[in-house]
Amino acid sequence: MNATTLQRPTDLTRDRLESLVKRVPGSTGNTWKLTEVYTGDVLVELPQSSADDIAKAYADAGAAQRVWASWPLRKRLKVLKKFHSLVVKNQYRITDLIQAESGKNRRMAFEETCDVPMGTSHYIKRAPSLLKDRRHGGPVPVLSHSVEVRRPKGVVAIIAPWNFPFATGISDTIPALVAGNGVVLKPDNKTALSPLFGVELLEKAGLPRGLVQVVCGEGPDVGPAILQGADYVMFTGSTDTGRIIGELAGKHLIDCCLELGGKNPMLVLQDADVDEAVHAALFGGFGNSGQICMHIERLYVHDSIYEQFRDAFVAATEAMTIGAAYDFGPDLGSLVSVDHRDRVASHVDDAVAKGATVLTGGQARPDLGPAFYEPTILEGVTKEMLAGSTETFGPVVGLYRFTSEDEAVSLANDTEYGLNASVWSSDPDRAMRVARRIDSGNVNINDILATAFASKGTPSGGLKQSGVGARHGDQGLLKYTDAQNIATLKKQVMEPQGNQTYAAYARQTRITLRLMRKLRIR
Ligand code: NAD
Repeated sequence: MNATTLQRPTDLTRDRLESLVKRVPGSTGNTWKLTEVYTGDVLVELPQSSADDIAKAYADAGAAQRVWASWPLRKRLKVLKKFHSLVVKNQYRITDLIQAESGKNRRMAFEETCDVPMGTSHYIKRAPSLLKDRRHGGPVPVLSHSVEVRRPKGVVAIIAPWNFPFATGISDTIPALVAGNGVVLKPDNKTALSPLFGVELLEKAGLPRGLVQVVCGEGPDVGPAILQGADYVMFTGSTDTGRIIGELAGKHLIDCCLELGGKNPMLVLQDADVDEAVHAALFGGFGNSGQICMHIERLYVHDSIYEQFRDAFVAATEAMTIGAAYDFGPDLGSLVSVDHRDRVASHVDDAVAKGATVLTGGQARPDLGPAFYEPTILEGVTKEMLAGSTETFGPVVGLYRFTSEDEAVSLANDTEYGLNASVWSSDPDRAMRVARRIDSGNVNINDILATAFASKGTPSGGLKQSGVGARHGDQGLLKYTDAQNIATLKKQVMEPQGNQTYAAYARQTRITLRLMRKLRIR
């Protein structure tokens, strides 16, 4: 397929896109040229926010947040229910924007849009129970008690990457809003359109204007001002940037959640269904053109089925369709930019120069569009190669063999990352045993990533250098709150009473401590 035959969706007009970006403050007049990845055509000039613009965004979000937090939860959730319907209603328009700004294929862009209604539904259901006051016993039975009150943090900074701009930008915004916060959202410059549309839909659903602010700029330019104003920061991006954000959060004494990179292993055990595993590996290695934080870059196959798996995997990879299209046709789309394509190519070239073999792929495809790269399978990758040790974040998979379960676990854990792993076996007990031994925040059994990521009731985050904290689950909402401890004592009894000496009071206290333990009061 050639990019020149591309039919751009009629909705992506200059007027429409200008009206989307006009909410981004840019007092200096500087702009960033946001392009359609498939063609390199400029779609719109994106305003770039200054430190003053960002400070004002926090002030405005803070004013709106005080009103929003005073609303009963029921009233806040009503807005989010409406928002849910609007997202589903506008799903294909959102899909168009995601495709234009990221270059991903339509199936992946559509699936990205599903994440927001799923997460929204989950927190609409869980919030009343999670945010209600909880009464606990106090130090003196009957005479004291304490109430745990969940308070919003204030204004939360959400910094999102380009690979899932709508999902990371908006899905992480939802629980922050449910908990009563305001949000200052900073999408990547390349992919600001779909999150901006998400904010438009939130306001259409009844969200008070100003509560969610969107600021834009290159990360290092705007990062300090964003951290300066935030009461909490939710960051998704690379491990290197995560360290910078973590340092700034420490400096400002605010809490943070850091969702970072991975170098995720897939383990195909001896008793796995090879056909299913091969089919899944296509998505694992090449879904979103390999630009999924949880995707597979290291694929370990048991020695006894290695050749069978390898030959089938190479053949299936070569049958994949790749191209630029705003329809559900191609299996694969583009990488996000020419710079990123060059980074991916540099990992493959480095591996080949150091002795790896390309089984298939290994070439850029400028005939399809500026940033396309073929799905690539390597053999003979070692840890001395970039592709063997650091995140490539492209459609490049290294194939390895193993002979025992212990070896498979040890190879899977031989990385500084711990975001996701995928274990394939027809024996659920064996798969579970292996999964528990992998140092990874997520492990999918007989799936690549979707089962874990879409289990919205379970926290999902990275271990080791893959992150701090988690999204989803109760933690994914409660992290946007502070716990306030309001304790009541009905009568002053925690001191000697009347003429009681302190020694007598101490004796009595020790007896009480023993009793409380025995009676399981405290
Ligand atoms: P990145 O770290 O370069 O950028 C992420 C975001 O941070 C962007 O909005 C960027 O503008 C901003 N940023 C960059 N430097 C900054 C700074 N100094 N201060 C403040 N903000 C700054 O990452 P990327 O290349 O956009 O995204 C790809 C990475 O994200 C991959 O490593 C991928 O694994 C990771 N990722 C992780 C998850 C997860 O949930 N664990 C999800 C998606 C992507």
